[in-house]
Amino acid sequence: MPRRSSTAAAPAPDSGTQPDAKAATKKAAASKTSTTRSKLAKLGLQRDIDLVLHLPLRYEDETQVLTIAEAVARAGIGEPAQVEGVVTSNEVAFRPRRQLVVRVADDSGELVLRFLNFYGSQVKQMAEGVRLRVRGEVRGGFFGAEMVHPTVKPVADDTPLPDRLTPVYPSTAGVPQAYLRKAILSTLDKVPLPETLPQSILHGELAQLRLTPLASCVRLLHQPPPEVDEAALSERTHPAWLRIKFDELLAQQLSLKRAQAARRERNAPPMPPVADGVLARFMQTLPFALTGAQQRVWAEIRADLTSPPPMHRLLQGDVGSGKTIVAALAACHAIDAGYQAALMAPTEILAEQHYRKLSAWLEPLGVRIAWLSGSLKAKDKREAVARVESGEAQLVIGTHALIQDAVTFARLGLSVVDEQHRFGVAQRLALRAKMAGEGQETAPPWTPHQLMMSATPIPRTLAMTYYADLDVSVIDELPPGRTPVVTRLVSDARRPEVIERVQVAAGQGRQIYWVCPLIEESEALQLQTAVDTFETLANTLSGLRVGLVHGRLSPGDKAAVMEAFTRNEIQVLVATTVIEVGVDVPNASLMVIEHAERFGLAQLHQLRGRVGRGSAESVCVLLYQTPLSPTARLRLQTMRETTDGFEIARRDLDIRGPGEFLGARQSGDALLRFADLQHDAWLVEYAARAAQHMLQSFPEAVEAHLHRWLGGREHYLKA
Ligand code: ADP
Ligand code: MG
Repeated sequence: MPRRSSTAAAPAPDSGTQPDAKAATKKAAASKTSTTRSKLAKLGLQRDIDLVLHLPLRYEDETQVLTIAEAVARAGIGEPAQVEGVVTSNEVAFRPRRQLVVRVADDSGELVLRFLNFYGSQVKQMAEGVRLRVRGEVRGGFFGAEMVHPTVKPVADDTPLPDRLTPVYPSTAGVPQAYLRKAILSTLDKVPLPETLPQSILHGELAQLRLTPLASCVRLLHQPPPEVDEAALSERTHPAWLRIKFDELLAQQLSLKRAQAARRERNAPPMPPVADGVLARFMQTLPFALTGAQQRVWAEIRADLTSPPPMHRLLQGDVGSGKTIVAALAACHAIDAGYQAALMAPTEILAEQHYRKLSAWLEPLGVRIAWLSGSLKAKDKREAVARVESGEAQLVIGTHALIQDAVTFARLGLSVVDEQHRFGVAQRLALRAKMAGEGQETAPPWTPHQLMMSATPIPRTLAMTYYADLDVSVIDELPPGRTPVVTRLVSDARRPEVIERVQVAAGQGRQIYWVCPLIEESEALQLQTAVDTFETLANTLSGLRVGLVHGRLSPGDKAAVMEAFTRNEIQVLVATTVIEVGVDVPNASLMVIEHAERFGLAQLHQLRGRVGRGSAESVCVLLYQTPLSPTARLRLQTMRETTDGFEIARRDLDIRGPGEFLGARQSGDALLRFADLQHDAWLVEYAARAAQHMLQSFPEAVEAHLHRWLGGREHYLKA
């Protein structure tokens, strides 16, 4: 049996000779220096309990040593191996580039260790005759078996092997594993983890989960005993992980439910209905009859506006379902009560369009509207800001960034945020603080009503977690007279036919969007592609006016192009994804999306939503380049098969998992570190029930649990 198994009690495992690790470990041993502390703080590890709850990402098995021959025989299987041997040679070679080449040997064979980056201290540490414990992946190199950049540790003949798996912690550069391990292990003994869950709940509604005490779970995860089920640990299905995930979800539920209760305590501006105000007159002049769904959600919103707690409602409706008019109704209601309303959009194009639409609807009724756009001249902007601050302007429309930065409201009673999923947690917090008048000298004695609108449906589990403090209204019906968009998948090889089709469609009086491919690596390249496409189409299509809109245009130029397209002065609009959200030109009934395989499902759905808004039958052509990856194929098939946003979102969740729904901007603040909403969704319901019970009957347990899990991060959950 060439394998050496573990002997006596292991020393604290050490990740070896990474130079920075070594230095940092020394430093840390001398004293907990402030630099390392601040590095730990960067990882969010301020308190002892944070360290204790900083759980391993995975484990390394350093409990066994293979012979070099055994390790070489396993070369290429992609798993690290640990061997022990004596250094037989050590040289710095210069071909093809400067590198350190160390040979180690045991009775069974020889292995090359190759270091492309190395320090002088490493050369010395691996001097001839030194015994090394080496861990890395063996590859069949040019000169025989080798390990590139293995972890190495000088050992004596009888240095014992660890008897436990070595934890690998989430870290950032600058906080070496060795340091983290020591810091965590030493803290583990200091921090008792008394049970925060009341026994009656543990043995009541949670009995089925058979939760084990947190203290033992934490200990097990940091220092798995030799006999542990390794697969269950790495797949995070081990009962210890179950407990951790449950506690984390519970903290989230507690925090959300408390935020909700706190909001219900605050007062919004009172907005009793007015019999003959702007709203009543607008209702009489509506450009169309509201759909049943629009009437229903409007009734829900109206009820919120007329009751004391501030509204905190998400209006969800598929692209084209008619959310804007509902926002306009809400604004009228606030204005009638003597308050200001703000309507914010994530892009200039969308804000501009809202401004045009709402001006047309409401200015004839005497509503005073301020327009805040990045393209305004300084003087006009100052004027607009002054009108908002004096309270003269009743409705303020603009991009969210601009409104947030430039303005103090005289009497803000309602804020409407369109396409709210485009904003990240931090942005939403800033906005909320701003809208509530925080930091203002004379903060208003009320919290404004908030209406958020989104076309991106939220899967149920997310609604229960991230959005638990949100009431949701859904428009589940499209306005009448729409013909569903027909989607065709066309290989890029048939592009000339597509151009031909554009020519014909334009000849029949239709308008066309031509969307340029997404080039994630380079905005400049994407722009170039758009410009090239524009030129090609302008030269190929005879008798048609072709326009171009992209993100680099000044806001004024962008608005001018969109305006011309709206008035049908331009028939074909070549665009980058700046037109993705909200743009509404009902006469446009053909959309061509180039390189459709590069777009995500949510984005394709948003883009396609720009057509099918009028009565003409609309077509969306998804041009794709072969070969298609399996997921790209699935996405395109989904687009061909359905136009239902909820169904698309559901399939998207299947294809990609929930991270995408939160948006990259939000997942950065990973609020859930351990639970995973796709696999652990079933636990959320238990957590929600337990949270309810605890809030009702065990306020001290609530405090203890939140303190343990959230510390100072609780505010993030309120966004
Ligand atoms: P979204 O929900 O995507 O924001 P919009 O509010 O832009 O949708 O509405 C899409 C189009 O449908 C607009 O042209 C709008 O004027 C029109 N519309 C909205 N409601 C109705 C309705 N009840 N009947 C007819 N057309 C409507
Ligand atoms: Mg919209």
